[in-house]
Amino acid sequence: MLSTMNMKLHILGCGDAFGSGGRNQSGYLVEAREKLFLLDCGPTTLLALKRAGFDPRRLDAILLSHLHGDHFGGIAFFFIEYLYLRPRVDPLVIAGPPGTEAKVRALFQVMYGGGSENKAIPPTRFVILQPDEPTDLNGITVAPFRVPHQSDAISLGLKVSYDGKQILFTGDSLWTESFVEHARGVDLFLCECSFFREQPGMHVNYQTLTTNRDRLHCKQLVLTHLGEEMLLHRNELAGVIAEDGMVIEI
Ligand SMILES: [Zn+2]
Ligand SMILES: [Zn+2]
Repeated sequence: MLSTMNMKLHILGCGDAFGSGGRNQSGYLVEAREKLFLLDCGPTTLLALKRAGFDPRRLDAILLSHLHGDHFGGIAFFFIEYLYLRPRVDPLVIAGPPGTEAKVRALFQVMYGGGSENKAIPPTRFVILQPDEPTDLNGITVAPFRVPHQSDAISLGLKVSYDGKQILFTGDSLWTESFVEHARGVDLFLCECSFFREQPGMHVNYQTLTTNRDRLHCKQLVLTHLGEEMLLHRNELAGVIAEDGMVIEI
């Protein structure tokens, strides 16, 4: 049977950790038949989700690429939403690299915990994503793979399959050959591109991406996680560049 609705990706936040260009931090909402889930959840994600007109209770899962604040720091706001404003019945699935549960709980205690007792979180099911171990999340298949971004913790690229569609998301990463392999045939490749020419830290820059563009055999390529230097060259960029509020048909 054909789907009644195409899958859509709502760009809730395509900025970097610094809010460069006034862009929200990482948050990408996948709206699919019977499922609503996030790729990453930066601090600005709940407000952007509401601005896009979605009821946060509809969210089935949050998939985390890595545990930097601009990618997971917004979860505490979803927790207080579910505790005080819109209680949810089914548990929220939070899937991320090893250490996710401890970090999310610690974040929530720091932000909203009070006394000596740990403040309870709303119904949540934590799932650990291990590199190269595909995982089923209530019908959403996630194939995580390790990417070069942190030396002291695991950062993941995520290949997500649902309802016959595939999305590849780099999370934050230096360019790696594994993007070429994983991008083959995917419907959407959401690739971080923090810098234009500079190379501070473990991120993709536009020059490297351009050099490899012809090797990426994906149906759509969207560049995201744009830093200040990248934005300065906005008029020189080819292809689709993410903007907050953009909706992409997959
Ligand atoms: Zn980041
Ligand atoms: Zn990062």
